Amino acid sequence: MVQKIIIGILAAALIAVCSIWGYSAWQAKQAAAPVVAPLATAAAVPVKPVKPVEAITPPAEVVPVAAEVPAEKADGTHFTYEYVSPRNPDLLPMYNMAREIDVLKQLPEVNQLDGWLTLPRPIHYIAAECGTVNAFYAKDKGDIVLCYEMLEFLVRQGAAMTQASGGSTRDQLNYLMANLRFLMLHETGHALVDMLDLPSTGREEDAVDQLATTLMLSFVSADESAGDIAQKLQLAATFFIATDDGQHDMATYADEHSVGAQRYFNLQCMVYGHNPGKYLRIVTSGRLPEARALRCEEESKQITRNWMRLIEPNIAPKHRMTAEEERAKIEEIQRKQVDNAQAPYMR
Ligand SMILES: [Zn+2]
Repeated sequence: MVQKIIIGILAAALIAVCSIWGYSAWQAKQAAAPVVAPLATAAAVPVKPVKPVEAITPPAEVVPVAAEVPAEKADGTHFTYEYVSPRNPDLLPMYNMAREIDVLKQLPEVNQLDGWLTLPRPIHYIAAECGTVNAFYAKDKGDIVLCYEMLEFLVRQGAAMTQASGGSTRDQLNYLMANLRFLMLHETGHALVDMLDLPSTGREEDAVDQLATTLMLSFVSADESAGDIAQKLQLAATFFIATDDGQHDMATYADEHSVGAQRYFNLQCMVYGHNPGKYLRIVTSGRLPEARALRCEEESKQITRNWMRLIEPNIAPKHRMTAEEERAKIEEIQRKQVDNAQAPYMR
């Protein structure tokens, strides 16, 4: 069932090269005023997504399909991307970096979903100034907004963590991109729940964390090994634990989001449960208590299976595959992944 979602080969290698170049170039320009903040300060900044804008009845328009394309070959709904120039000059470096890296096009799963699903309207990914550290789905417009303030927060946090552990510029970039990847998938989950009217009986915030994890674990890239993906999910989990200072008041418990530590352990459980043999180290290193780990395989597989069942009917006709085609594609990608995992150098 997991395999049903596996859809193709991503151009992640090219993306990685572009990103490191863009990030390094941007970083060099910032040399006079490096963006570095102590972790404690960065982690103290509360990261509370604002509530989605009140619903306004969305237009019931369907993306037009070119007349000459037979219905069984119809493509899915394509997304749009935009970088809005900030009014606050302090955010200009983030705007410039976002454009230089073309950050919204460096999100492998989002870019793969682009045109793969049939949606009632396009999702518009937009980077903009918000006045707060945030990323959110604006229901009335169908926008997924990445705030420059959030980008700046992640850059500072990644820089502080990497410096503390003696890491490199590439490590900083990995932290930034892994978190953006997860964050934007989480918001994409809100958009899909809304646009496709997907059922959810638990808290939507937890459900879309699960979707983000499922997509990262299931969308197989020929340019990343399964271990690479698990490592990026670890970086996303780190964000949750680093932004949870444990000082919870009643307002925190009443919030629609689980507290950071819970989101951290839920994510660990999903990754470990995806392949307990392969990711045993998550338990033996103490990142996931054994008591929770016992049920994670069942939990992870159930969540993945359920999300796949919700998404699958919305795959555009053009991208549907027969079981045989899927099998062949998966085998091809898995061969490439094994090569990647074993390669002594990066292509
Ligand atoms: Zn959310």
